[in-house]
Amino acid sequence: MSARPADPVHVLRETFGFEAFRGRQAEIVAHVVGGGDCLVVMPTGGGKSLCYQVPALCRPGVGIVVSPLIALMQDQVEALRQLGVRAAALNSALDAAEARQVERALRAGELDLLYVAPERLLTERFLDLLDESPLALFAIDEAHCVSQWGHDFRPEYLQLEVLHRRYPSVPRIALTATADGPTRRDIAARLGIEDAPLFLAGFDRPNIRYTVTPKLEPRAALKRFLDSRKGEAGIIYCMSRAKVETMAEWCQAQGYPALPYHAGLDRAVRAKNHDRFLKEDGVIMVATIAFGMGIDKPDVRFVVHLDLPKTIEAYYQETGRAGRDGLPSEALLFYGIEDVARLRQLMAGSDAGEDHKRVERSKLEALLGFCETAHCRRQVLLSYFGETDTKPCGNCDTCLSPVKTRDGTEDAQKVLSCLYRTGQRYGAVHVIDVLTGHETEKVKSQGHNEIKTFGAGKDKPASHWRSVIRQLAALGLLEVDLERHGALVLNGDSWPVLRGERKVELRDEPAPVAAPRRGTKR
Ligand code: ADP
Ligand code: ZN
Repeated sequence: MSARPADPVHVLRETFGFEAFRGRQAEIVAHVVGGGDCLVVMPTGGGKSLCYQVPALCRPGVGIVVSPLIALMQDQVEALRQLGVRAAALNSALDAAEARQVERALRAGELDLLYVAPERLLTERFLDLLDESPLALFAIDEAHCVSQWGHDFRPEYLQLEVLHRRYPSVPRIALTATADGPTRRDIAARLGIEDAPLFLAGFDRPNIRYTVTPKLEPRAALKRFLDSRKGEAGIIYCMSRAKVETMAEWCQAQGYPALPYHAGLDRAVRAKNHDRFLKEDGVIMVATIAFGMGIDKPDVRFVVHLDLPKTIEAYYQETGRAGRDGLPSEALLFYGIEDVARLRQLMAGSDAGEDHKRVERSKLEALLGFCETAHCRRQVLLSYFGETDTKPCGNCDTCLSPVKTRDGTEDAQKVLSCLYRTGQRYGAVHVIDVLTGHETEKVKSQGHNEIKTFGAGKDKPASHWRSVIRQLAALGLLEVDLERHGALVLNGDSWPVLRGERKVELRDEPAPVAAPRRGTKR
């Protein structure tokens, strides 16, 4: 790459052979070419790579890409070389001679992009090498690995903030596909890019229609659903292997071409079922979440969740396997109180630390907020990922057949003023105790039985207030502060409600989950 500095669109066309940037790529590239840090959140396949590859070619010096995935690194480097980009990788897959060769090329200024594993990057030897090289940028791929709240935490990632101290003038672009609000803030804080802009986009899957239905007679409901989608390929997710087996048999007995898939099946059976799902038309896979990787099938027409998924991210990812071809597809979720109790129990019983459990609980609450919302499901989903600038979609159950709502402004005001008066320091349990006038030890010791909102909601049961709080969270009218032990806190949008300037519509009772109480603890 000779003529520098180059124009991004020129590089995009001449080097990568693409006509135009997609989505927010142009903005991001311009920002990084200009020397700015940023955090990029886009779903897989959204086009994150170009966001650092193009700027690396536009700016003088080499672009250093930190990535934990060695296999992917090699693929990327190969692909770049095909395009004539001078790319290399430095990781444990190389022998000493190969590594020396790469280092020599780096020192000689013969590289445009260098992919490096974090543990390699952080060695004093490599940093010394970087000291001598002009640097175009640092790209931190899979940036969620820096957050202890994710599933992919890598301790080396925490040390990446050294990059800023050592090379303050080199722009850093952090990229990830998985980032709910708390994780996102965690990434920014740990990498020291809190003040850098966030570019977030591309989460909407407009061709997927979202429907949430109460789990009452699920088999009959499932049969009606499957009868309306005869001959179409789909996935039915169940929470357990045992349930996968019974439901697959049940489906077969009803005459549907269903196959089971879970990690307990023989490897050969699993491979065969997977293969049939991909190659034959209209096969229904009944599966646990073990069925996930490598489902490269564009015409999956529906994804059913017979049981609650674990989190909104999981739900988004699992439903995202439908409709990759862009044609209309369905996501159907059965929502029942037993699942909620089961998930709570699982969490309580896990040996994770308190902080971790707190995060999990708040993620579950967010999922329940999605299930109980009276508003557009897509808007709730997207706002969970940070896309707030959206309109009701017209392609989800609540848009298509609006649920009965009631004026929940007064309930909302009671909750919000209770948060305010108790100092925004408590989770839902305590807040509900105060609202319903429950004189617990904690309530008494904090003097919360003396405040004005004590007992202000005692005419309604705790389950009512739980649902109100979830819906307010789903509407973004209050927030869960994970840094403060999951405390419910007010935000800028809470105040117009408190001041009576904004009305709040809530789902009319009963929310599906609140209906049958079968002695399960809530
Ligand atoms: P991510 O890293 O976000 O998962 P990639 O960077 O691998 O996504 O991009 C996904 C696919 O989209 C790749 O095949 C890539 O070549 C293609 N792509 C990305 N941006 C563009 C664009 N502006 N024009 C055409 N194709 C693009
Ligand atoms: Zn909608």
